[in-house]
Amino acid sequence: MGFDTDAIHAGQIPDPSTGAIITPIFQTSTYVQEALGKHKGFEYARTQNPTRLAVERNVCALERGLAAYAFASGMAAIDTVLKLLMAGDHVVVSDNTYGGTFRLFNFVLKNFGLQFTYVDTSNLAAVEAAFQKNTRMIFVETPTNPIMGITDLRAVAGLAKRHKARLVVDNTFMSPYFQRPLALGADIVVHSTTKYLNGHSDSVGGMVVLRHKEDADRVQYLQNAVGAILSPFDSWLLLRGTKTLGLRMRQHDSNGRKIAAFLEKHPRVKKVYYPGLKSHPQHALASRQMSGFGGMIAFETGSISRARKVLGSTRLFSLAESLGGVESLISHPATMTHASVPSAERQRLGITDGLVRISVGVEDVRDLKEDLSSALGKI
Ligand SMILES: *Cc1c(COP(=O)(O)O)cnc(C)c1O
Repeated sequence: MGFDTDAIHAGQIPDPSTGAIITPIFQTSTYVQEALGKHKGFEYARTQNPTRLAVERNVCALERGLAAYAFASGMAAIDTVLKLLMAGDHVVVSDNTYGGTFRLFNFVLKNFGLQFTYVDTSNLAAVEAAFQKNTRMIFVETPTNPIMGITDLRAVAGLAKRHKARLVVDNTFMSPYFQRPLALGADIVVHSTTKYLNGHSDSVGGMVVLRHKEDADRVQYLQNAVGAILSPFDSWLLLRGTKTLGLRMRQHDSNGRKIAAFLEKHPRVKKVYYPGLKSHPQHALASRQMSGFGGMIAFETGSISRARKVLGSTRLFSLAESLGGVESLISHPATMTHASVPSAERQRLGITDGLVRISVGVEDVRDLKEDLSSALGKI
């Protein structure tokens, strides 16, 4: 089936007891059993829930995986994937990974004996050099936040395979509509569904999609054993969100391309980071492994005072963390999402004090351009 058909139908059947076309919110903690050992596949709601099952099957189809499991947040999903490992195992990680991922790896999981090496995963030689005897996993985010660096997933998948390590891809920024890591050779995909998959800034959640049966069985075991499950209501919201994922992504992408082109021509903007621009150093690779570029853009204003002026002057772009919702957001990575990254490291990654990040929503692009134009005019 096509993406938009799967988005609306995969994992969803009319409710057998009423015919309700929409999967109900099964707000229950347990299920009555007919007799000892005789039940309908649902015993206790941490282990199984029909609303959660529907959204897991839905996202699994969109990523073309073998199985998917839903979690209470993106971080809970990532934490569960890392629990596929054992103390003493080593992980190679994209050096510009989401701040929460860095925090979880370095300040929580390290205490349990996991080892991490951070490298620029867009540099294949650096990835190759980072492998150790005990490397079991490569954790890649592409494009990266907020500089939009691209990692060649097919090439890194090849390296991972040769070293018998699993390739995990955080696909939050592109969604399966624009990028399908499993088709490029990745083993596991994780999402913060809080962003594009849910898309309406009204739910926090995470998803893990697997391609190997042994990984799927273990993640299902962990989902039940650890219990960081997505609630029935959030599962229902997410199911509602994914129905329009294709529609929304097409509009994010269309608006994103226009806004990036507008910013690139603007005299007050020194540099624009967007993989859809020909000026992006990895535009060719991005065009090969993604079918669109989405709505995430970063641009350089030149100084913190200029950035402050822009951030304080937009009306449609709201000043907030997060991304991927229908409404446009604007943020300042150096003091917001990346505040915990040491200043020297921020400079090395290109996250300067003058850098502004926007999540372009699905509003009328002319209004968005006017909003940015007037804010940039304040510089
Ligand atoms: C937001 C985000 C996460 C964390 O997800 P939560 O739902 O906030 O726990 C992980 N990775 C990326 C790329 C994100 O943007």
